[in-house]
Amino acid sequence: MEKTIYCTKNDCYKRGGKIRNVEYLIVHSPAVYPTVIRAVDGANNWYKRWNKSGVEKLAHGFIDDTGIYNFAPYTLACWHIGDSWGNANCIGYELCELDTKAEFEKVWNNAVNHYAALCKKYGLTADKVVGHCEAHDKGFASNHSDPEPYFQRFGKSMKDFRADVKSAMNGKDYNKKVKNKKTISGIIEILSNINTRSFYSFEDSAVIGAAYAGEKHQVVESAIVDSGTLMYRTANGRYVTGAKKYVKFRDEINKRITYSSHCQTYGNLPVVGNGCVSGTVGEAKRLEAVTIDGSPDLEYRVHCQTYGWMNWKKNGQMAGTVGEGKRLEAVQIKRKDGGTIKYRLHIKGVGWGPWAKNGETAGTTGEGKRAEAIQIVLE
Ligand SMILES: [Zn+2]
Repeated sequence: MEKTIYCTKNDCYKRGGKIRNVEYLIVHSPAVYPTVIRAVDGANNWYKRWNKSGVEKLAHGFIDDTGIYNFAPYTLACWHIGDSWGNANCIGYELCELDTKAEFEKVWNNAVNHYAALCKKYGLTADKVVGHCEAHDKGFASNHSDPEPYFQRFGKSMKDFRADVKSAMNGKDYNKKVKNKKTISGIIEILSNINTRSFYSFEDSAVIGAAYAGEKHQVVESAIVDSGTLMYRTANGRYVTGAKKYVKFRDEINKRITYSSHCQTYGNLPVVGNGCVSGTVGEAKRLEAVTIDGSPDLEYRVHCQTYGWMNWKKNGQMAGTVGEGKRLEAVQIKRKDGGTIKYRLHIKGVGWGPWAKNGETAGTTGEGKRAEAIQIVLE
């Protein structure tokens, strides 16, 4: 995705200096990490920060995990490298410093493709793609170290970047292809233990969690990814293989009960149907609250850090805490009509605990162990 949103209020833009010759393509990163700032997303994004009078620096754009954002035309000599010859003879982008490996890989792949396209446009070879720090070593830039500290955080260097730009110029596609993306509604049952992938898209390959045999997940989307593999996206935003060896798909969601949880970092997770997992597995995030709804009438309570057993709640009421950073440790659920309800928790250091039923305790008390996910089955 490439978007043009020129910083017309920026002082450098208004001055309107002209590029003489494009001799080098400069790779920058803003060096503000651990502060995470995207190009145009978020309240305090780079576009907002730079598109105003009083700001004299400018790059040709920013690249983040969502795409390429062009802040100035290539004919403009942007003040990005702190040297008159450099600014008049180089095009430069800032690569946003994001947090996770999955995010970094998207920034990297977007940037590799874009720099490869620019090399072709200006008839340059990949060795003309240099980091700000390298441009300083060559004598035409201010003394900054970017983007090496950002790249090093993920085991990469400018040398790797140039190698990938070269591969991209030779036809390798760094944006994997996704085909037949479809909205679906159903459940997958996990048949054997697998890894789950990151939160952002079918293209990501970074592993962030796990799914274990016996879990059921509500799924909302499917697609065929690059190598012809079927993938599912769960309601909770995980990407799971669709290979029949690992998962079984059913085209139905049982909504006799539905439930959701509130989870560290992610907040309120989407509502899922009877039998499906809510929460995360393998990400070390605590559950903080659970809300269950549907029929028949249910009563439930949770055991929380600091508070111990909290008050009984009824259909649709939240049990637990929000915004206090307290881990949920155990749960009890009763069904008022005499039928069976069973439930289990995924616990830190334990994994999935045994199924409890009809008011029994699932989870631990007095051990200080966080619950990370819940699965509830109304029979
Ligand atoms: Zn720089």
